Amino acid sequence: MSWHVEVDPDSCAASGVCAGIAPHLFRLEGDTAEVVAADVEPDEAALDAADLCQTMAITVVEVENGGQIGPRP
Ligand code: SF4
Repeated sequence: MSWHVEVDPDSCAASGVCAGIAPHLFRLEGDTAEVVAADVEPDEAALDAADLCQTMAITVVEVENGGQIGPRP
């Protein structure tokens, strides 16, 4: 199983919260965050970042079934 992590650059406010929570998953590049690797092993930190992103710019999807699992409801 693997997860696909995305940042929507149009929604990102460049707060750096995601990179602070999970620097192994996110980094700030200029005025937007980027993912370090799009497809990752399941990692709770990815969901935490998606939950805490104030603009909901981060989505986490299960690669196998395409279901969105982050941000959590
Ligand atoms: S937490 Fe959200 S708004 Fe802040 S840098 Fe990350 S993706 Fe952008």
